[in-house]
This record gives sequence, C-alpha cells and structure tokens, in this order.
Amino acid sequence: MTDWFVPSAPTVGFTGSPLDRADALRKDDAAMIMARADRTARWLVLDDLRPVIDDGSGSDTLRWFSRDDIPTDAPSVFLGLADGSPRFAVAATGMGRHGDPRGIGAALAASASPGDAAIFAHARSLLDWHARHRFCANCGSQTTVAKAGYERLCSACDAHHFPRTDPVVIMLALLRVDGVEHALVGRQPRFPRRFFSALAGFVEPGESLEEAVRRELFEEAGITTARVRYIASQPWPFPSSLMVGAFAETTGTGELTLDDDEIEEARWVTKADVRAALDGAGPWLAPPPLAIAHTLLRAWVTN
Ligand SMILES: [Zn+2]
Repeated sequence: MTDWFVPSAPTVGFTGSPLDRADALRKDDAAMIMARADRTARWLVLDDLRPVIDDGSGSDTLRWFSRDDIPTDAPSVFLGLADGSPRFAVAATGMGRHGDPRGIGAALAASASPGDAAIFAHARSLLDWHARHRFCANCGSQTTVAKAGYERLCSACDAHHFPRTDPVVIMLALLRVDGVEHALVGRQPRFPRRFFSALAGFVEPGESLEEAVRRELFEEAGITTARVRYIASQPWPFPSSLMVGAFAETTGTGELTLDDDEIEEARWVTKADVRAALDGAGPWLAPPPLAIAHTLLRAWVTN
C-alpha cells in the first residue's frame, strides 16, 4: 500500500464551494454596507435550517432572493462573492418551499452544480451557530453579531466568540488476511436495515486525529491500529462537524469485540464485496455518495 489514492474535492459531498469567502471584507463595515446595497447581491434563506428551494427549475436548486424580498429585521451572514457579486444567508420563515436538509444536500451534491451543496453546508452551520449562541458562554449576557457573521461579541464582558467546528474521525480499518486485504464496516443500531458504514467518533479534548482513530477502533471493535493514513475531509452541517476520513492499518487476527451500545454488527469485507455494495447489488447497503464513508470505500476499491 504505497500509492494512496487521494480523492479530489468534487468527489466529497458538501465540498467545492464556488464562492470566494472574501474574509477581508468581513471586518470592513463600510464594505459590508456596500455589499448589502449592491443590486446584484443575493440571499439564501434557511427556514428552520432547511434551505428554500427553487420551484421553477424542475429539480432541486438553491433559491436566491434579492434584498427587497427578505425581511428587513432578519440578521444575515456573509457567505462570500460569486464572481464579485455578494452572497448572504439569512434565517426566515414563510419564504417558500423548503425540504429535508439531508435530501436536499444529496440532490444538490448530485446536481450539475455540486458546489451548491457546499454553500448550503456553509450557511447551515453558520446560522445554526448563531441560533445557539445568543448568550455569552463566559458570563451569560447577550451577545451581538460581528464580522459579518463570523464572530459574536459579549455586551458585558467583551468576550469574543467564534463559530466552532467539531472534528469527527471516520476510518476504514484495513486488515490483510492470507494476502487479501479486508475492510471493516459496521452498523449502529439506529441505521436503516442492511446499512453498513465506516466506524466514526468525535475527537476528544487533548487528542490527535491519529489517537482518536486508534481509540475509537479499540473501543468500538476491540482492534489495534498500526499506521493511520489521512485520505480526505468533509464539512458535515448537522450541525457543524468536520469529518476527517482515514485508512487505519490494523494488526492482529481481526477478531472483533464490539461495543454493543455503538455497534450492533460489524464485518470484514473484501473489495469485491464493497464494489457490489456501491453498485447496490450486494447483501448490504453502502453509504450514499454524499457521505465521506462512500468516498473512503470508493478510494479503497479504486486503489
Ligand atoms: Zn460575557
């Protein structure tokens, strides 16, 4: 295993935003006033964190509103520039049809403009953070929006609060048995019937990504990891995770000791098994293309 296939961004769901984040503009209040007044500026509306969808195109696409269409009292966040044209996101209700966020995300990622899924992920995570951080974690006083949506300031103790991202490791454990490489897939009790995926878990404070991979595989499956190799990452806006995808070369016999609360069933599978599952032709179901677990499985069978 020397030539590692590293997928390029468009093969990972929720990545590849076409927007220039233009972070230098965020702290420039005059520039932001001009951006909001720009006649080409457009707003993405999230209704209860679900994107309002364009009805006219026949397929799910993001609907962009002009300034006159959105409620004047709704605070918006700056997403960036699309060919120089400002783009914002705003939370509002009653603005049109909106769909299930995961379903819409999958439809956008599979559309002719997969970067729209990344724009939606950006907007959803940022607006969700604002909705849940109206009060200072330091002193409990009210906070206000600053830096066009990338900071909140406490009115009482002057604490600065920044949008947070929670890292999650997701790993394909690999084991060579009699010269044939196998990968570990497992299912959580909440998964749909026959659905299996890569194992995953939140990174804990004071822990590196490699340590998190090793700990999670030992805790959930009782297996020991040698080398950890980074493959790709993915923003996951439910609500604000960063999925860090890795291959984990394991040692030992591959005997599993499962944490029944987390994993109800796990199995070592071959590349032929995974190819069949990715084609929808196997006895178990693989994760859909939107998920980075799909990217990891596809990277493994392509390698
Ligand atoms: Zn405070």
